[in-house]
Amino acid sequence: MVDFKEIRGEFPILNQEIHGHPLVYLDSAATSQKPNAVIDAEANFYRTINAGVHRGAHELAAARSTMAFEEARAKVAKLVGANAAEGEEEIVVTGGATAGLNLLATAFGNASLGRGGEAAKRFALKPGDEIVVSRAEHHSVLLPFQELAYRTGATFKWIDLTEDGRVRTDNLDEVITERTKVVAVTHVGNTTGAITNIAPIIKRAHEVGSIFILDACQSVPHLKVDFHALDVDFAAWSAHKMYGPTGVGFLYGKRELLEALPPANFGGSMVELAYMDHEAQYMAPPARFEAGTQPVAQVVAAGVAAEWMMNIGLENIEAHEKTIAAELLKLGDIDGIRILGPRENVDRIGTVAFDVAGVHPHDVGQFIDAQGIAIRVGHHCAQPVHRHFGLYASNRASSGVYNSVEDAQALVEAAKGIRKFFGVE
Ligand code: PMP
Repeated sequence: MVDFKEIRGEFPILNQEIHGHPLVYLDSAATSQKPNAVIDAEANFYRTINAGVHRGAHELAAARSTMAFEEARAKVAKLVGANAAEGEEEIVVTGGATAGLNLLATAFGNASLGRGGEAAKRFALKPGDEIVVSRAEHHSVLLPFQELAYRTGATFKWIDLTEDGRVRTDNLDEVITERTKVVAVTHVGNTTGAITNIAPIIKRAHEVGSIFILDACQSVPHLKVDFHALDVDFAAWSAHKMYGPTGVGFLYGKRELLEALPPANFGGSMVELAYMDHEAQYMAPPARFEAGTQPVAQVVAAGVAAEWMMNIGLENIEAHEKTIAAELLKLGDIDGIRILGPRENVDRIGTVAFDVAGVHPHDVGQFIDAQGIAIRVGHHCAQPVHRHFGLYASNRASSGVYNSVEDAQALVEAAKGIRKFFGVE
């Protein structure tokens, strides 16, 4: 049995009062808090190892730092079912999900200009080709791939949502066609908390020879994911939402695809041979995609976060957060409160967005904050999702491994007083 109370005790930040109330943190979809193991790993790296990786002949750089960095890559690979053996690595270090998704869109754009030779042609786009996303996307999927469509002349299309905000799968043959070259979809909606039924989307994408990209930002921290089993081609996510540090993230790519993909960022540590008068020869992946000095301390700590999650067990995390989701969904029973997303506690995570009739989300946020409860308000970088619900913004509570059912109850109790306080009841 995992003792989740004890796990909560590993997060020093939660041990404080806000406006005279014990802090209830329900904003993990924006960023998660960090356990001592992760905080210590980052600090200890600076205390004992600090050096760049894969360069220099001295012990710290050439051996210890490089080893810690590559060990972290291997732990992260294990978390998501990816290869980590030397020469077969499938995990690229990025600055976060946004950076990883932009890396892909830029690399596909470079391939469309003929860069990367014959092997990269599979990523090339031209007028008449199609890029497909869903209406559930965070702007960090929507915008890089919309821009890629503008740059290449490809047609930009999307899969729409059901009334309760799930990505539809009933008309995939119409949306994903023989002309589709790229499909990019979120694994879990960052507003609705809905888990996308990605299997038929991936199947259809592959049927027509398209690349499938998964936004795994909101799945990796909460669910057991296995990118090989899912057969996704690429996936991007951020460390700071999975109990790791800010400033880093990871891009998964099937090894053969990473080998064929041209680079997107250029500079030191990604080039084998560089000349003044002819083309450079770039390194094999993952180094080809990791130009410049890497955020080694953060990657090492992210590796510790991955290991820490695996020690608890992803199945246990998922089951624990399901109990919190059940409680948060009771928000929908309050008069004047509407949940934006699935109401039933099935194929969803503990991320619950809601609208309070007649009260602006910023007022709701302040009212809730005054009681020591942290939720997110705004459009959550997903404006098309909000338009789908006829809104511009909403309130969002989201769970993490450290939350208790009591945390969710505190929010539900507080929410009962919102409309009365603002005089709209
Ligand atoms: N996709 C989803 C589903 C997200 O929730 C987020 C973070 N809000 C992102 C992408 C972008 O992540 P980051 O800001 O860490 O790059």
